[in-house]
Amino acid sequence: MKLRSKLPDVGTTIFTIQSRRAQELGAVNVGQGFPDYPIDPRLAACVTEAMRDNHNQYAPMAGMPELRVAIAAKLKDCYAIDVDPADEITISCGGTEGLFSAIMAVVGAGDEVILFDPAYDSYEPAVRLAGGVCHRVPLQPPDFRVDWSRVATLINARTRLVIINNPQNPACSVLARSDLDELARLLRGSDVLVLADEVYEHVVFDGAKHQSVLAHAELRERSFAVFSFGKTLHATGWRVGYCVAPAPLTAEFRKVHQFNTFTIATPLQVGIARYLTATPECWQGLTDFFAVKRAALRAALAGSGLELRAGAGTYFQLLDYSSLSDETDIEFCERLMVQAGVATIPLSPFYREAPRLRLLRVCIAKSDRTLELAAEKLSRFARSLRGAA
Ligand code: GLN
Repeated sequence: MKLRSKLPDVGTTIFTIQSRRAQELGAVNVGQGFPDYPIDPRLAACVTEAMRDNHNQYAPMAGMPELRVAIAAKLKDCYAIDVDPADEITISCGGTEGLFSAIMAVVGAGDEVILFDPAYDSYEPAVRLAGGVCHRVPLQPPDFRVDWSRVATLINARTRLVIINNPQNPACSVLARSDLDELARLLRGSDVLVLADEVYEHVVFDGAKHQSVLAHAELRERSFAVFSFGKTLHATGWRVGYCVAPAPLTAEFRKVHQFNTFTIATPLQVGIARYLTATPECWQGLTDFFAVKRAALRAALAGSGLELRAGAGTYFQLLDYSSLSDETDIEFCERLMVQAGVATIPLSPFYREAPRLRLLRVCIAKSDRTLELAAEKLSRFARSLRGAA
């Protein structure tokens, strides 16, 4: 028998590879994006209690009503918008399922999808499984801004979807209101939809404000917005996220979701709903929480030759090693793993055609001790490189 792979060129994700190797080599893992500190004990208590209260059977397909109501209240609080919990919110298995189900719901054979490189790695395989074709527009370092005039040249009658990621992982850039205005202008009068991956909505630094498609009246009509409690509540292993979209789009989304994951773990949904209701401000300190970590890591690396760029958003930051080495990001990342004992993530795998990058992604959602240890090891390695030069 000959197996015909649908994704012959797709391997294991770079995140999994780096975490596995970090474990094998005993390296400090600031690669894959997950916190290594505990969740709020009150949140753990809410989920435990939900389980004890016997919320252990199938939840409704769209998600527990109380969680959708709590999400609508949170959206009102964050973006001053009214979202209908019954017809516009669906609980998903993490952000990834939200993205996947949205893509499957609207992209068909031969449809074209526009996305931006460095693109989060789940987008293109999902588009291809749906039969679509991706056009990938590179964001160029150092600022990773969108060249909207380039996007304009790609839009045609076959274009079905534009995928944006704001704040952007792995580039750590954010979109301004003017970017959303430009996107809205380009799509005006067309049937092109938008999928906005906004899982890092609460981590936008330096006084900037997150620009959600949901708060942009024109884009909202044609957008799916995907969010993640894994990121917001520091619980990536729970795999609870949600997709917000106008009722007709949500109806299509649910047609896929019901046969994909069907429902999401009931006690987690009930527990999160109770926690959000009891602690409605829980997300408000996130930017400050990560800004402190960002500043500490930047300070710890200052003068080492490894410069932590002040990225505008997400709980990642970019490490610029250009003053130390001219190796490719893959080569330098490998040296950091093996010689410095620190796992990071290179950016070039997220591009179709990577520019010359001397940057690695570092996750700052780690305990102070982990970040100190990573900084010590990185500084020592940098010193050894400078000594050898
Ligand atoms: N979102 C996580 C990151 O960017 C990775 C999740 C995964 O491993 N698929 O690091």
